[in-house]
Amino acid sequence: MTFDPETATFLIAGPVRIHPRVLRAMSMPSLNHRGDYFHGVMAEIRELLPVLFGTKGHQVVLTGSGTSGLEAVYSGLVPKEGRTLVLSNGNFGQRTDAIVRRYASQVTTISAPWGQNIPLEAARTELEKGDFAAVCVVHNETSVGLANDIASLAPAVRKSGALFLVDGISAVAGIPCDIDAWGIDALVAGPQKGLAAPAGLAIVHLSERAVRELHPGTYYLDLKAHLTSLEKNDTPWTPAVPLFLALREALVLLREETLEGRLARTHRLAEATRAATSALGLELFPDPRYASDTVTAIRNPSGMEDAQVRKALERQYNVLVQGGQGELTGKIFRIGHMGIADWPDLLVVFAALERILGKAGRRPRPGAALQEIVQRMP
Ligand code: PLP
Repeated sequence: MTFDPETATFLIAGPVRIHPRVLRAMSMPSLNHRGDYFHGVMAEIRELLPVLFGTKGHQVVLTGSGTSGLEAVYSGLVPKEGRTLVLSNGNFGQRTDAIVRRYASQVTTISAPWGQNIPLEAARTELEKGDFAAVCVVHNETSVGLANDIASLAPAVRKSGALFLVDGISAVAGIPCDIDAWGIDALVAGPQKGLAAPAGLAIVHLSERAVRELHPGTYYLDLKAHLTSLEKNDTPWTPAVPLFLALREALVLLREETLEGRLARTHRLAEATRAATSALGLELFPDPRYASDTVTAIRNPSGMEDAQVRKALERQYNVLVQGGQGELTGKIFRIGHMGIADWPDLLVVFAALERILGKAGRRPRPGAALQEIVQRMP
């Protein structure tokens, strides 16, 4: 079987499968982005964004993938002179560090081994010692399938007085994130993850304080310019109109399901994925206490390579999961179960995995993984 995007079981770690309603929303003739119709779309998006973040605030949509949102936040909020603390435990933590270092001169980075929670104690100690102006962290480290415990970090950040800047690209609408209780000043969401919209936009939530403290960063991604335009349901530059149309429909779908409903469903799918993984005799990559609800990272079965697992899924069963990144290339594979992923997707991927392992002589207990999924279905 060759890969067929029209019919594939598509479970990479984002972009995720897109609902036909969202796909259809993009199929419109060109619109005047300065005209009334598009302004109406923007007004609706503004109204819907609190559904995504679970709170109101200053919320903008940028044309550019998730990284553009990170660049907008870090370039506009990390101090050129003061100190910035970066916490890193994966590929996207490293990327945070790389972006922040473009804009800040005094950066302290504390890293934890990939697969472990962010180093909370070391971070607390550092925050007590130094006068940090900003703390930057990834909520859900997609590369290792791990949700960092940023709730436990939050009190120390608040006490320090630093701005709390969070990459929530693969967390928002998949993993609970209490922006107000945790005192988050900037949170970046990616539409291609928990929201199940197409990639190519970044959605940014800013606190009152963040808006007050914004300084000029990059020209194109100037958050002040975006906020000012948005007051008139406008954008400073030409927006990616079809992506905004898709975003509006994906937000309507989320409102129909409710944020709580989507978080709860994503959590149940994640629990089923973890149980099915262990029923096949496979091992999670991250510390299981911090296993992510949006992405499950699984070690390749010993002695089996990517080609025997991930490539077999794709070539024989038209099932797409994702490989490892950076130092984990060839060592793990990742199943994304966020957005509109659902129970039938899990049944297909685990039935195929059971068969692949069986053919490789691994003897998984027949039906055990599927049973773990079935018994968790609503
Ligand atoms: N941060 C995290 C946690 C991610 O998962 C991703 C993408 O997977 C990014 C940043 C980069 O987002 P984009 O590729 O949309 O620029």
